[in-house]
Amino acid sequence: MNLLLIGPPNAGKGTQAKILTEYYGIPHISTGDLLRDNIARKTELGKLAKSYVDSGGLVPDDLVIDLVDQALSQYDLKKGVLFDGYPRNIAQAENLDALMAKHDAVLDTVILIRVEDDILINRATGRRVCSNCGATYHITGRPPKISGFCDLCHEPLIHRRDDKEDVIMHRVEVYKDQTRPLVDYYDETGRLLKVRGEGSPEEVFERIMALLGKTE
Ligand code: AMP
Repeated sequence: MNLLLIGPPNAGKGTQAKILTEYYGIPHISTGDLLRDNIARKTELGKLAKSYVDSGGLVPDDLVIDLVDQALSQYDLKKGVLFDGYPRNIAQAENLDALMAKHDAVLDTVILIRVEDDILINRATGRRVCSNCGATYHITGRPPKISGFCDLCHEPLIHRRDDKEDVIMHRVEVYKDQTRPLVDYYDETGRLLKVRGEGSPEEVFERIMALLGKTE
């Protein structure tokens, strides 16, 4: 089972990726997580990537492709793998097909998570993250008990730079311009499944399972 999740920012790819990788017991490769980790550790790659991530643009292909190549060689791909947030454009998609072939594997299933723009923007502008433990809240959907503070560790909540309205709108535009062409790329090769991303994570997961032919 070699899976890819695509969809606009805040469609819920990361959340579904966690559920699916636990369900199938397969590794999760998220270029967003790998980039954020490199930025936090101030590695050379992190320093090069930071300004792109902060502005909501795409990090140059060569940096991201190297990151994925390294990540792939760390895992045993026998049971499969799930990619989340990579590829983000046609050049990366072609590269991923070549990388998988190098590992004697094929990307067989691509799941597009579809969500309307106003919901994507609302998810980001309302999200607050604990500055200490990383727990996430939403000012109307899942508010903390005391406004501005984490329920778990009582530290202040922050509004991440890449969740601010101007940045999220730019990220949605980048998605439409660069990443959405992948929908045709995968549809033409018969690998694309489409799922509605509205509702709770459990509801979306059930829709995905139904598409994959697993009813629980
Ligand atoms: P994500 O968590 O997947 O939404 O990614 C956060 C940010 O990391 C994006 O807005 C981009 O700046 C960068 N990024 C993640 N994956 C890629 C990729 N495959 N290609 C280029 N930039 C990426």
